[in-house]
Amino acid sequence: MRMSSMIVCKRTQPFLHNIPTGGLDMQILRPQPPKEKVVVVMGATGTGKSRLSIDLATRFPAEIVNSDKMQVYEGLNIVTNKITEEERRGVPHHLLGVIDPTSDFTASNFCNMASAAMKSIVSREQIPIIAGGSNSYIEALVDDDDYEFRSRYECCFVWVDVSLPVLHSFVSERVDRMVEKGMLEEVRKMVTPHVDYSRGIMKAIGVPEFDKYFRAESFSDEETRAILLEEAKNEIKINTCILARRQLEKIKRLRNVKGWRVHRLDATEAFRKCGEEGEEAWEKLVVGPSTMIVGRFLYN
Ligand code: ATP
Repeated sequence: MRMSSMIVCKRTQPFLHNIPTGGLDMQILRPQPPKEKVVVVMGATGTGKSRLSIDLATRFPAEIVNSDKMQVYEGLNIVTNKITEEERRGVPHHLLGVIDPTSDFTASNFCNMASAAMKSIVSREQIPIIAGGSNSYIEALVDDDDYEFRSRYECCFVWVDVSLPVLHSFVSERVDRMVEKGMLEEVRKMVTPHVDYSRGIMKAIGVPEFDKYFRAESFSDEETRAILLEEAKNEIKINTCILARRQLEKIKRLRNVKGWRVHRLDATEAFRKCGEEGEEAWEKLVVGPSTMIVGRFLYN
């Protein structure tokens, strides 16, 4: 609901603008439009940000804006761990797999596209949920004066946290699963003899690590190929763990140094447990509390 302008006779009100009134000390009060509400789901790689964003979007009228700088590119769905069509459960996603993989997508591109997506989501009376691990992009959007984000939007930050040793073993096993799902074939299709690993999607963890394997593949025996593959997988695991640690440090900086009011949800126990017990722990430790937090934020 937007408030219409009112005429008032006081000078002490905020947002007063002088107007010619023929000598009368009258001014127009233009109240600031109420801020739109945005939910931001943060967390290191592998913590379940996409899953939580769907959990929230199926409980509140929401659409999701991806904030993972590699998932914005088209292609390499396994490597970048993009949420599948089925997992999306009909929730509209923005900035997911829409950018030419050979182009360089910058923080400023992200801010422009995310701002436009949020405007269109809000115009449909839905709540934007920004979800993804690229904290420098989220920081650019939220704190950059150019986008006047803070004066337009009120934010609720939710952080899915998992203790690093538990997360490290989870993401390591995830790399094995990615290879089983066809990661190698997916990367092979993208790699050319003069590939530039410093551009676009080719920077993604899980691409440059296979370079040695692909170059030696055609003239190596089976044993050498198996060793090279194992080496590449180990490198991907190490780089993913480094990424997770850096992402965690960035979230802590935003919270502790920049003073962002970030609600932390500890999902560690949900990751320690398997099957149904793991699902129950996720509901209890993550979905329940975050639904309360977001509900209070949206409707209070
Ligand atoms: P930075 O300040 O380093 O830009 P950031 O928080 O914006 O950090 P991250 O999302 O942490 O960005 O990404 C840093 C790097 O990690 C990327 O350049 C890419 O190499 C890798 N990376 C990030 N997300 C993915 C992903 N989904 N799949 C594969 N690699 C990724």
